[in-house]
Amino acid sequence: MHIAIIGAGVSGLLTALELAEQGCKITLFDQQQAGHAASWAGGGILSAMYPWRYPQEVNDLAQYAKQFYQQWNAKLQPVTGIDFQIHETGMLIFDEDDFDIGLAYKEKYQDPIQHCEYLKRTQLEHVNPHISQQFQHAIYFPHLANIRNPRLLKSLITYLKQHPNVEVHENIWIEKFNIQNQHIQSIQTSNGQHFVADQFVIATGAWSNCWSEQLQLSIPVEPVQGQMMLFKTPENWLPTMCMNKVMYLIPRMDGHVVCGSSMQNIGFDQRPSVQTQQNIYKACVEMVPELANFPIVKQWAGLRPSSPTGIPYIGKMPELDNLWANFGHYRNGLCMGPASAQLLRQLILNQDTLVNPNAYSTERLKQAG
Ligand SMILES: Cc1cc2nc3c(=O)[nH]c(=O)nc-3n(C[C@H](O)[C@H](O)[C@H](O)COP(=O)(O)OP(=O)(O)OC[C@H]3O[C@@H](n4cnc5c(N)ncnc54)[C@H](O)[C@@H]3O)c2cc1C
Repeated sequence: MHIAIIGAGVSGLLTALELAEQGCKITLFDQQQAGHAASWAGGGILSAMYPWRYPQEVNDLAQYAKQFYQQWNAKLQPVTGIDFQIHETGMLIFDEDDFDIGLAYKEKYQDPIQHCEYLKRTQLEHVNPHISQQFQHAIYFPHLANIRNPRLLKSLITYLKQHPNVEVHENIWIEKFNIQNQHIQSIQTSNGQHFVADQFVIATGAWSNCWSEQLQLSIPVEPVQGQMMLFKTPENWLPTMCMNKVMYLIPRMDGHVVCGSSMQNIGFDQRPSVQTQQNIYKACVEMVPELANFPIVKQWAGLRPSSPTGIPYIGKMPELDNLWANFGHYRNGLCMGPASAQLLRQLILNQDTLVNPNAYSTERLKQAG
Protein backbone atom coordinates (compact mmCIF):
# COMPACT_ATOMS: atom_id res chain seq x y z
CA MET A 1 0.00 0.00 0.00
CA HIS A 2 1.31 3.46 -0.93
CA ILE A 3 0.43 6.24 1.52
CA ALA A 4 1.08 9.96 1.03
CA ILE A 5 1.32 12.00 4.23
CA ILE A 6 0.97 15.80 4.17
CA GLY A 7 2.87 17.44 7.04
CA ALA A 8 6.15 16.37 8.59
CA GLY A 9 5.71 17.44 12.21
CA VAL A 10 5.61 14.88 14.98
CA SER A 11 2.14 13.71 13.85
CA GLY A 12 3.17 13.09 10.23
CA LEU A 13 6.61 11.70 11.03
CA LEU A 14 5.38 9.20 13.62
CA THR A 15 2.54 8.16 11.30
CA ALA A 16 5.11 7.60 8.55
CA LEU A 17 7.26 5.57 10.92
CA GLU A 18 4.37 3.38 12.11
CA LEU A 19 3.26 2.64 8.56
CA ALA A 20 6.71 2.22 7.00
CA GLU A 21 7.62 -0.31 9.69
CA GLN A 22 4.55 -2.33 8.63
CA GLY A 23 5.74 -2.47 5.03
CA CYS A 24 3.77 0.43 3.56
CA LYS A 25 5.41 2.69 0.98
CA ILE A 26 5.38 6.26 2.28
CA THR A 27 5.72 9.63 0.56
CA LEU A 28 5.92 12.48 3.05
CA PHE A 29 5.50 16.17 2.17
CA ASP A 30 6.17 19.40 4.01
CA GLN A 31 5.88 23.00 2.88
CA GLN A 32 9.10 23.80 4.75
CA GLN A 33 12.00 21.82 6.15
CA ALA A 34 10.58 18.72 7.88
CA GLY A 35 10.18 19.00 11.66
CA HIS A 36 10.48 22.77 11.95
CA ALA A 37 6.98 23.85 13.05
CA ALA A 38 5.13 23.38 16.39
CA SER A 39 6.79 20.05 17.07
CA TRP A 40 10.18 21.75 17.14
CA ALA A 41 8.95 24.72 19.19
CA GLY A 42 7.25 22.70 21.94
CA GLY A 43 8.56 21.84 25.39
CA GLY A 44 8.42 18.05 25.26
CA ILE A 45 6.63 17.36 28.55
CA LEU A 46 5.34 13.78 28.27
CA SER A 47 2.03 14.42 30.02
CA ALA A 48 -0.74 16.94 29.66
CA MET A 49 -0.02 19.78 32.10
CA TYR A 50 -2.52 19.32 34.94
CA PRO A 51 -4.05 16.24 33.22
CA TRP A 52 -7.26 16.63 35.24
CA ARG A 53 -8.00 19.80 33.29
CA TYR A 54 -8.22 17.81 30.02
CA PRO A 55 -10.75 15.36 28.61
CA GLN A 56 -9.95 11.73 29.40
CA GLU A 57 -9.43 11.05 25.68
CA VAL A 58 -6.34 13.29 25.74
CA ASN A 59 -4.87 11.46 28.73
CA ASP A 60 -5.77 8.06 27.26
CA LEU A 61 -3.30 8.76 24.43
CA ALA A 62 -0.77 10.73 26.48
CA GLN A 63 -0.31 7.94 29.02
CA TYR A 64 1.63 5.90 26.42
CA ALA A 65 4.11 8.66 25.67
CA LYS A 66 7.07 7.68 27.82
CA GLN A 67 6.82 3.95 27.10
CA PHE A 68 6.40 4.37 23.33
CA TYR A 69 9.18 6.97 23.02
CA GLN A 70 11.50 4.68 24.97
CA GLN A 71 10.75 1.91 22.48
CA TRP A 72 11.27 4.17 19.46
CA ASN A 73 14.48 5.64 20.89
CA ALA A 74 15.88 2.14 21.40
CA LYS A 75 15.02 1.23 17.80
CA LEU A 76 16.09 4.44 16.09
CA GLN A 77 19.24 5.34 18.03
CA PRO A 78 21.46 2.54 16.67
CA VAL A 79 20.58 3.67 13.13
CA THR A 80 20.64 7.45 13.58
CA GLY A 81 23.18 7.87 16.37
CA ILE A 82 20.75 10.35 17.98
CA ASP A 83 19.50 9.94 21.55
CA PHE A 84 16.45 12.12 22.06
CA GLN A 85 16.82 11.84 25.82
CA ILE A 86 13.75 10.74 27.71
CA HIS A 87 14.60 12.65 30.86
CA GLU A 88 12.70 11.39 33.91
CA THR A 89 13.02 14.45 36.11
CA GLY A 90 9.60 14.33 37.73
CA MET A 91 7.53 17.48 38.10
CA LEU A 92 6.70 19.82 40.97
CA ILE A 93 3.41 21.70 40.86
CA PHE A 94 2.93 24.70 43.14
CA ASP A 95 -0.72 25.59 42.37
CA GLU A 96 -2.40 24.89 45.72
CA ASP A 97 -5.88 24.65 44.22
CA ASP A 98 -4.72 21.58 42.27
CA PHE A 99 -3.19 19.69 45.21
CA ASP A 100 -6.18 17.52 46.16
CA ILE A 101 -7.16 16.58 42.63
CA GLY A 102 -3.53 15.92 41.67
CA LEU A 103 -3.00 13.64 44.65
CA ALA A 104 -6.14 11.63 43.81
CA TYR A 105 -5.61 11.46 40.04
CA LYS A 106 -3.55 8.27 39.81
CA GLU A 107 -6.11 6.21 41.78
CA LYS A 108 -9.11 7.70 40.09
CA TYR A 109 -7.88 7.11 36.55
CA GLN A 110 -5.62 4.08 37.09
CA ASP A 111 -2.67 5.92 35.59
CA PRO A 112 0.55 4.91 37.41
CA ILE A 113 2.66 7.50 35.55
CA GLN A 114 0.68 10.15 37.45
CA HIS A 115 1.73 8.90 40.89
CA CYS A 116 1.81 12.00 43.10
CA GLU A 117 3.21 12.91 46.52
CA TYR A 118 2.60 15.88 48.80
CA LEU A 119 5.86 17.58 49.85
CA LYS A 120 6.41 19.89 52.81
CA ARG A 121 9.12 22.58 52.47
CA THR A 122 11.92 20.36 53.88
CA GLN A 123 11.03 17.52 51.50
CA LEU A 124 10.68 19.98 48.63
CA GLU A 125 14.21 21.30 49.27
CA HIS A 126 15.52 17.76 49.18
CA VAL A 127 13.90 17.09 45.78
CA ASN A 128 14.85 20.48 44.31
CA PRO A 129 17.07 22.86 46.31
CA HIS A 130 16.52 25.81 43.93
CA ILE A 131 12.83 26.49 44.59
CA SER A 132 11.89 29.96 45.86
CA GLN A 133 11.11 30.36 49.59
CA GLN A 134 7.75 31.67 48.42
CA PHE A 135 6.67 28.05 47.97
CA GLN A 136 6.30 26.23 51.27
CA HIS A 137 4.87 23.05 49.78
CA ALA A 138 4.16 21.35 46.44
CA ILE A 139 2.84 18.21 44.84
CA TYR A 140 5.41 16.01 43.14
CA PHE A 141 4.98 13.62 40.19
CA PRO A 142 8.26 11.64 40.28
CA HIS A 143 7.64 9.59 37.11
CA LEU A 144 6.94 12.42 34.67
CA ALA A 145 9.53 12.88 31.95
CA ASN A 146 10.36 15.17 29.06
CA ILE A 147 11.95 14.55 25.70
CA ARG A 148 14.27 16.72 23.73
CA ASN A 149 11.82 17.27 20.90
CA PRO A 150 14.19 18.91 18.36
CA ARG A 151 16.36 15.79 18.67
CA LEU A 152 13.31 13.54 18.43
CA LEU A 153 12.45 15.18 15.11
CA LYS A 154 16.03 14.91 13.87
CA SER A 155 16.08 11.25 14.79
CA LEU A 156 12.75 10.55 13.05
CA ILE A 157 13.76 12.42 9.89
CA THR A 158 17.18 10.77 9.74
CA TYR A 159 15.65 7.33 10.23
CA LEU A 160 12.88 7.87 7.69
CA LYS A 161 15.22 9.32 5.05
CA GLN A 162 17.34 6.17 5.11
CA HIS A 163 14.28 3.86 5.21
CA PRO A 164 13.86 1.90 1.95
CA ASN A 165 10.05 2.42 2.03
CA VAL A 166 10.11 6.20 2.54
CA GLU A 167 10.52 9.29 0.36
CA VAL A 168 10.57 12.76 1.92
CA HIS A 169 9.73 15.89 -0.12
CA GLU A 170 10.48 19.16 1.65
CA ASN A 171 9.60 22.75 0.72
CA ILE A 172 6.52 21.61 -1.21
CA TRP A 173 3.10 23.11 -0.42
CA ILE A 174 0.27 20.66 -1.12
CA GLU A 175 -2.53 22.81 -2.39
CA LYS A 176 -5.39 20.49 -3.22
CA PHE A 177 -6.82 17.04 -3.62
CA ASN A 178 -7.99 15.74 -6.99
CA ILE A 179 -11.18 13.89 -6.11
CA GLN A 180 -13.35 11.59 -8.26
CA ASN A 181 -16.26 9.54 -6.93
CA GLN A 182 -15.36 10.21 -3.27
CA HIS A 183 -11.85 8.93 -3.91
CA ILE A 184 -8.65 10.99 -3.88
CA GLN A 185 -6.82 10.32 -7.15
CA SER A 186 -3.82 12.53 -6.43
CA ILE A 187 -2.61 15.56 -4.54
CA GLN A 188 -1.44 18.68 -6.28
CA THR A 189 1.39 21.00 -5.31
CA SER A 190 1.32 24.78 -5.63
CA ASN A 191 3.29 24.51 -8.90
CA GLY A 192 0.86 22.05 -10.46
CA GLN A 193 2.77 18.81 -9.85
CA HIS A 194 0.63 15.73 -9.08
CA PHE A 195 1.44 12.86 -6.72
CA VAL A 196 -0.63 9.67 -6.68
CA ALA A 197 -1.00 7.19 -3.80
CA ASP A 198 -3.54 4.67 -2.52
CA GLN A 199 -4.25 6.46 0.76
CA PHE A 200 -3.63 10.05 1.94
CA VAL A 201 -3.10 11.46 5.44
CA ILE A 202 -3.59 15.05 6.59
CA ALA A 203 -1.10 15.83 9.38
CA THR A 204 -0.89 19.55 8.77
CA GLY A 205 -1.05 20.86 12.36
CA ALA A 206 -2.12 24.49 12.73
CA TRP A 207 -2.66 24.75 8.94
CA SER A 208 -5.38 22.05 8.87
CA ASN A 209 -8.22 24.53 8.47
CA CYS A 210 -6.90 25.16 4.93
CA TRP A 211 -8.70 21.98 3.81
CA SER A 212 -12.14 23.12 5.04
CA GLU A 213 -13.24 24.77 1.82
CA GLN A 214 -12.24 22.04 -0.57
CA LEU A 215 -13.56 19.22 1.61
CA GLN A 216 -16.70 21.22 2.49
CA LEU A 217 -16.12 20.73 6.18
CA SER A 218 -15.63 23.14 9.03
CA ILE A 219 -12.26 22.20 10.47
CA PRO A 220 -12.02 24.14 13.74
CA VAL A 221 -8.24 24.07 14.04
CA GLU A 222 -6.51 27.39 14.48
CA PRO A 223 -2.95 28.48 15.24
CA VAL A 224 -2.40 29.48 18.87
CA GLN A 225 0.99 31.04 19.37
CA GLY A 226 3.17 29.91 22.27
CA GLN A 227 6.47 31.58 23.15
CA MET A 228 9.47 30.00 24.87
CA MET A 229 12.71 31.06 26.52
CA LEU A 230 15.86 28.97 26.95
CA PHE A 231 18.33 29.38 29.83
CA LYS A 232 21.72 27.69 30.02
CA THR A 233 22.67 26.47 33.50
CA PRO A 234 25.39 23.95 34.46
CA GLU A 235 24.79 20.31 33.50
CA ASN A 236 22.03 18.66 35.57
CA TRP A 237 21.64 21.81 37.64
CA LEU A 238 17.84 21.92 37.93
CA PRO A 239 16.68 18.47 39.08
CA THR A 240 12.93 18.65 38.34
CA MET A 241 10.41 20.18 35.99
CA CYS A 242 8.41 22.91 37.76
CA MET A 243 4.94 24.25 37.10
CA ASN A 244 3.03 27.20 38.49
CA LYS A 245 0.01 29.01 37.03
CA VAL A 246 0.44 27.17 33.70
CA MET A 247 4.07 28.35 33.38
CA TYR A 248 6.77 25.72 33.39
CA LEU A 249 10.49 25.00 33.56
CA ILE A 250 11.83 21.93 31.75
CA PRO A 251 15.43 20.92 32.45
CA ARG A 252 17.45 19.11 29.78
CA MET A 253 20.36 16.86 30.71
CA ASP A 254 23.03 19.28 29.48
CA GLY A 255 21.77 22.15 31.68
CA HIS A 256 19.50 23.91 29.20
CA VAL A 257 16.20 24.88 30.83
CA VAL A 258 13.23 25.44 28.50
CA CYS A 259 10.65 27.86 29.92
CA GLY A 260 7.20 28.83 28.78
CA SER A 261 4.69 29.41 27.68
CA SER A 262 2.17 31.95 26.44
CA MET A 263 -1.14 31.51 24.56
CA GLN A 264 -2.11 34.05 21.90
CA ASN A 265 -4.55 33.91 18.99
CA ILE A 266 -2.65 36.07 16.51
CA GLY A 267 -2.89 34.06 13.31
CA PHE A 268 0.28 32.63 11.79
CA ASP A 269 2.60 35.20 13.43
CA GLN A 270 5.62 33.39 14.87
CA ARG A 271 7.57 36.35 16.23
CA PRO A 272 8.25 36.44 19.97
CA SER A 273 7.24 39.74 21.61
CA VAL A 274 9.19 41.64 24.27
CA GLN A 275 6.18 41.88 26.62
CA THR A 276 5.47 38.14 26.54
CA GLN A 277 9.12 37.27 27.01
CA GLN A 278 9.18 39.54 30.08
CA ASN A 279 6.12 37.73 31.48
CA ILE A 280 7.77 34.34 30.95
CA TYR A 281 11.00 35.55 32.56
CA LYS A 282 9.10 36.85 35.60
CA ALA A 283 7.22 33.56 36.05
CA CYS A 284 10.47 31.57 35.78
CA VAL A 285 12.46 33.52 38.36
CA GLU A 286 9.45 33.50 40.65
CA MET A 287 9.77 29.71 40.81
CA VAL A 288 13.58 29.50 40.67
CA PRO A 289 15.17 32.89 41.54
CA GLU A 290 18.73 31.70 40.77
CA LEU A 291 17.81 31.41 37.08
CA ALA A 292 18.43 35.18 36.96
CA ASN A 293 22.17 34.37 37.24
CA PHE A 294 22.24 32.38 34.01
CA PRO A 295 22.19 33.51 30.38
CA ILE A 296 19.12 33.35 28.14
CA VAL A 297 20.42 31.67 25.00
CA LYS A 298 17.33 31.57 22.78
CA GLN A 299 13.73 32.77 22.49
CA TRP A 300 11.16 31.55 19.97
CA ALA A 301 7.48 31.00 19.24
CA GLY A 302 5.49 28.18 17.66
CA LEU A 303 1.93 27.60 16.50
CA ARG A 304 -0.14 25.04 18.36
CA PRO A 305 -2.87 23.35 16.32
CA SER A 306 -5.78 24.24 18.62
CA SER A 307 -9.00 22.27 18.58
CA PRO A 308 -12.15 23.01 20.59
CA THR A 309 -11.70 20.27 23.21
CA GLY A 310 -8.02 19.44 22.68
CA ILE A 311 -9.07 15.98 21.48
CA PRO A 312 -7.32 15.42 18.14
CA TYR A 313 -8.98 14.24 14.93
CA ILE A 314 -7.71 10.74 14.15
CA GLY A 315 -9.35 8.45 11.61
CA LYS A 316 -10.92 8.44 8.18
CA MET A 317 -12.16 11.78 6.89
CA PRO A 318 -15.91 11.97 6.18
CA GLU A 319 -17.31 11.18 2.71
CA LEU A 320 -14.00 10.08 1.16
CA ASP A 321 -12.78 6.51 1.07
CA ASN A 322 -9.00 7.08 1.17
CA LEU A 323 -8.33 10.26 3.17
CA TRP A 324 -7.25 10.12 6.83
CA ALA A 325 -6.70 12.64 9.63
CA ASN A 326 -4.10 13.05 12.35
CA PHE A 327 -4.32 16.69 13.47
CA GLY A 328 -5.66 19.08 16.13
CA HIS A 329 -3.45 18.00 19.06
CA TYR A 330 -3.31 21.53 20.51
CA ARG A 331 -1.07 21.67 23.62
CA ASN A 332 -0.34 17.94 23.76
CA GLY A 333 0.84 16.79 20.37
CA LEU A 334 4.24 15.62 21.56
CA CYS A 335 2.84 13.47 24.37
CA MET A 336 -0.13 12.19 22.35
CA GLY A 337 2.03 11.75 19.23
CA PRO A 338 3.17 8.12 19.51
CA ALA A 339 -0.26 6.73 20.48
CA SER A 340 -2.05 8.93 17.91
CA ALA A 341 0.18 7.58 15.15
CA GLN A 342 -0.23 4.02 16.31
CA LEU A 343 -4.02 4.41 16.43
CA LEU A 344 -4.09 5.83 12.91
CA ARG A 345 -1.85 3.04 11.60
CA GLN A 346 -4.21 0.49 13.17
CA LEU A 347 -7.24 2.14 11.58
CA ILE A 348 -5.66 2.39 8.12
CA LEU A 349 -4.45 -1.22 8.20
CA ASN A 350 -7.67 -2.47 9.76
CA GLN A 351 -5.96 -3.80 12.90
CA ASP A 352 -7.15 -3.97 16.53
CA THR A 353 -6.89 -0.55 18.10
CA LEU A 354 -4.99 0.60 21.16
CA VAL A 355 -7.92 2.71 22.39
CA ASN A 356 -11.54 3.09 21.36
CA PRO A 357 -11.26 5.28 18.23
CA ASN A 358 -14.78 6.75 18.39
CA ALA A 359 -13.89 9.75 20.53
CA TYR A 360 -11.26 10.88 17.99
CA SER A 361 -13.58 10.50 15.01
CA THR A 362 -13.68 13.10 12.24
CA GLU A 363 -17.49 12.86 12.25
CA ARG A 364 -17.14 15.82 14.64
CA LEU A 365 -16.04 17.89 11.63
CA LYS A 366 -19.38 17.21 9.96
CA GLN A 367 -21.34 18.24 13.03
CA ALA A 368 -19.39 21.49 13.19
CA GLY A 369 -20.13 22.23 9.51
C1 LIG B 1 5.40 26.69 22.85
C2 LIG B 1 4.82 25.31 22.72
C3 LIG B 1 5.01 24.41 23.76
C4 LIG B 1 4.51 23.10 23.65
N1 LIG B 1 4.79 22.18 24.61
C5 LIG B 1 4.34 20.91 24.50
C6 LIG B 1 4.68 19.92 25.45
O1 LIG B 1 5.44 20.19 26.40
N2 LIG B 1 4.16 18.67 25.31
C7 LIG B 1 3.34 18.35 24.28
O2 LIG B 1 2.88 17.21 24.20
N3 LIG B 1 3.03 19.26 23.33
C8 LIG B 1 3.51 20.52 23.42
N4 LIG B 1 3.18 21.46 22.48
C9 LIG B 1 2.21 21.11 21.43
C10 LIG B 1 2.87 20.34 20.31
O3 LIG B 1 4.07 20.95 19.94
C11 LIG B 1 1.91 20.25 19.11
O4 LIG B 1 0.66 19.77 19.51
C12 LIG B 1 2.48 19.28 18.06
O5 LIG B 1 3.80 19.62 17.76
C13 LIG B 1 1.64 19.27 16.79
O6 LIG B 1 2.33 18.46 15.87
P1 LIG B 1 1.86 18.39 14.36
O7 LIG B 1 2.78 17.46 13.67
O8 LIG B 1 0.40 18.11 14.33
O9 LIG B 1 2.05 19.90 13.84
P2 LIG B 1 3.38 20.65 13.32
O10 LIG B 1 4.57 20.26 14.09
O11 LIG B 1 3.03 22.10 13.26
O12 LIG B 1 3.56 20.07 11.87
C14 LIG B 1 2.65 20.31 10.82
C15 LIG B 1 3.47 20.38 9.55
O13 LIG B 1 2.59 20.41 8.42
C16 LIG B 1 3.20 21.23 7.44
N5 LIG B 1 2.14 21.65 6.52
C17 LIG B 1 1.00 22.28 6.83
N6 LIG B 1 0.22 22.45 5.74
C18 LIG B 1 0.90 21.92 4.70
C19 LIG B 1 0.62 21.78 3.31
N7 LIG B 1 -0.54 22.20 2.78
N8 LIG B 1 1.55 21.19 2.51
C20 LIG B 1 2.72 20.74 3.03
N9 LIG B 1 3.02 20.84 4.35
C21 LIG B 1 2.12 21.41 5.17
C22 LIG B 1 3.82 22.36 8.24
O14 LIG B 1 4.85 22.99 7.52
C23 LIG B 1 4.34 21.62 9.47
O15 LIG B 1 5.70 21.25 9.33
C24 LIG B 1 3.73 22.75 22.52
C25 LIG B 1 3.56 23.66 21.47
C26 LIG B 1 4.11 24.93 21.56
C27 LIG B 1 3.95 25.89 20.42
